[in-house]
Amino acid sequence: MKNLRVLFARRPQGLPVTGDFALDEAPVPAAGEGEFLSRTLWLSLDPYYRNVMKGSQIYADRLEPGMPMVGETVAQVVESRHPGFSAGDFVAVRNGWQSWAVSNGTGVRKLDPAMAPFSTALGVLGMPGLTGYAGLVYLGEPKPGQTVVVSAATGPVGCTVGQVARLVGARAVGIAGSDEKCAYAVQELGFAACVNHRRGDLKASLAAACPDGVDVYFDNVGGDTLAAVLGRLALGARIVLCGMIEAYSMDAPPPGPFLGPVVGARATMKGLVVYDWLHKADEQRRVVSAWIREGRFRWREDVTDGLEHAPEAFCRLMRGGNFGKALVRVAPETASS
Ligand code: NDP
Repeated sequence: MKNLRVLFARRPQGLPVTGDFALDEAPVPAAGEGEFLSRTLWLSLDPYYRNVMKGSQIYADRLEPGMPMVGETVAQVVESRHPGFSAGDFVAVRNGWQSWAVSNGTGVRKLDPAMAPFSTALGVLGMPGLTGYAGLVYLGEPKPGQTVVVSAATGPVGCTVGQVARLVGARAVGIAGSDEKCAYAVQELGFAACVNHRRGDLKASLAAACPDGVDVYFDNVGGDTLAAVLGRLALGARIVLCGMIEAYSMDAPPPGPFLGPVVGARATMKGLVVYDWLHKADEQRRVVSAWIREGRFRWREDVTDGLEHAPEAFCRLMRGGNFGKALVRVAPETASS
């Protein structure tokens, strides 16, 4: 018996091609003390592998040419020298792209055949399902009646988002890449609507599908799709930046602000309009003026004399030429009226 493996051969340029991988046969490894040997049954293919192949630092995985590709699998234990696992157990384990692997049990989950088909441990009951569920419930915070839009709607993340949205009483709207995917989203998954981003004008399709705007956008794609949805946000909308698959195969980030670091840093983006905070104005004036009187708060002014110079001063401001608060001294403070 041989262990068939798929190795990482080289970093892809753009979209991955088969030449970025290499097939290999190795001896089936033997389980040492405290380990078990399992036979891979299912290998999960996840978009983030492309980022691992790129050498992205946000994942724990590191790939060097010649190493077996990393990845989640469902496997069956064949031989065990580990007290927690027995031959015959079905497990979710990171065997990577190989038909046999040894594990010391770290991060391994035993699967219950009564719960659901084993393959779901890599999909809707695995990492992608958790992503969709937790991301929507705890970051998206959908409310009954609100509109939740999700891209890549028919994949494991997207289908979880859409169905959780529906089940909490929100209105799920999908974005997907074919009419067939959209029909599936509506007819099988219970989305209220689904728009095909490859057909027609996405902005117009979204406007029709989301007449009251978008309360939650769960973004799996980034790029133009994100830009289109940003144009339909309802007041107080929440945006969950989950994935940016559009950029994964690009060697350089796409033009415009690349939002990938927001995902890596688990950061939150929120909109601000000062007029919503007028009730804090008394507090702000009290606090800051006290700091000024105490000499603990400084500022600088960029003063232009003469109203006639105001246009020029304004143009300078708009070129970034000001240094401090731009002001025009129209008349001296001491001038009498
Ligand atoms: P999917 O099964 O949904 O597959 C990816 C889908 O993305 C494609 O089928 C396609 O669907 C869509 N897509 C849109 N634009 C592009 C493009 N330019 N190139 C390729 N595909 C595109 O994947 P998953 O459900 O597993 O993952 C969805 C997203 O969630 C991914 O971005 C993934 O990286 C991310 N993710 C993030 C996690 C996190 O912790 N933040 C964890 C897990 C996943 P269509 O044709 O319908 O547009």
